[in-house]
Amino acid sequence: MIKTPYWLLEESRLESNLKLLSHIKEKTDIKILLALKGYALWKSFSLVSKYLDGCCASGVHEALLSYEKFGKETHTYSPAFKEEDIDRVATISNHLIFNSTSQLRLFGDLAKSYNQNISLGLRVNPEYSQSPVELYNPCGVYSRLGTTINNFDKKLIDKIDGLHFHALCEQDSLALEGVVDAFEEKFGAYLNDIKWVNFGGGHHITRKGYDIDRLINLINNFKSRYPHLQIYLEPGEAVGWETGTLVTSILDIVHNGMDIAILDTSAEAHMPDTIIMPYRAEVRGASEVGDKEFTYRLAGNSCLAGDIMGDYSFDKPLKIGDKIIFEDQMHYTMVKATTFNGVPLPSIAIRRLDGTVEVVREFVYKDFRDRVS
Ligand SMILES: *Cc1c(COP(=O)(O)O)cnc(C)c1O
Repeated sequence: MIKTPYWLLEESRLESNLKLLSHIKEKTDIKILLALKGYALWKSFSLVSKYLDGCCASGVHEALLSYEKFGKETHTYSPAFKEEDIDRVATISNHLIFNSTSQLRLFGDLAKSYNQNISLGLRVNPEYSQSPVELYNPCGVYSRLGTTINNFDKKLIDKIDGLHFHALCEQDSLALEGVVDAFEEKFGAYLNDIKWVNFGGGHHITRKGYDIDRLINLINNFKSRYPHLQIYLEPGEAVGWETGTLVTSILDIVHNGMDIAILDTSAEAHMPDTIIMPYRAEVRGASEVGDKEFTYRLAGNSCLAGDIMGDYSFDKPLKIGDKIIFEDQMHYTMVKATTFNGVPLPSIAIRRLDGTVEVVREFVYKDFRDRVS
């Protein structure tokens, strides 16, 4: 018995996602990178690296993780690099993608001086996105992410090998069509001068109902217009989508106008997107309020009043010690979790392909202590 709370990755589900991504690679001849921002459980990378081509990193730490633990291609982008990091980042990256023409001017030659083979790129802003939430819209008003066509300097095209855009958030291939149209309309004139285009992340490829054939057609049409271009996708969420759970226990049940179960986890610290997106995590065996007889608010054990996962109904009354299992907790959870309020971080466990469960990480008091001084 593993002590709760813990995240449990199911490698068999991860492999199904990877096989689907691999299928797209086979049909289109593109490369697919894992976005470490969304999923960085590196003790599963021996499986991921069998199917994907490398990682996309945002800055020096993710680049190091890709280099050390994934060991294939490393594509590093940052909204703004620090000069002191260029040496390390350039040395271990295959692609280095700048966010602005000023960063490209500042650090492009410097990066080349550390690594002659590095392929430089520029992130552009296609100024088109159907992102459902402004927090996740890289093309929103006043966005700092990517260079707009007005800020683009044609003379710099000789300095770069590729262009990068990222404008999707949990979206279908139909939304990508709009982005690619906008990208081509604005930057199409430069595509004959470069070697690669990176279509970013946000492709919800592994979600049921995602239109995979539309994606394959879109990419193959694009390639027929620009056969010289290598295309990259860099999904994060789609890799970890529905591959595992957060297993927690009920510590207490209190009553104040309704029944409230306090868990040994925290929405704020361990599943922050439930609060900031916000979204409602599925709970195994539970339904919407009103569907089943017994309703509870599930809440965290931090002192934040709003540390609440949501209200759920159950077939049977809950009791202290019962397990509550949150579904789909692999992406944007571990990478975002904090030790806020001293709430212990969940352990990390993996059910390997052969069925054995391995606890790959446990956290102790020192992990909290050493982050605060
Ligand atoms: C966040 C991000 C990704 C991954 O996005 P997902 O929604 O997890 O697929 C890829 N590229 C860039 C530049 C990003 O910022």
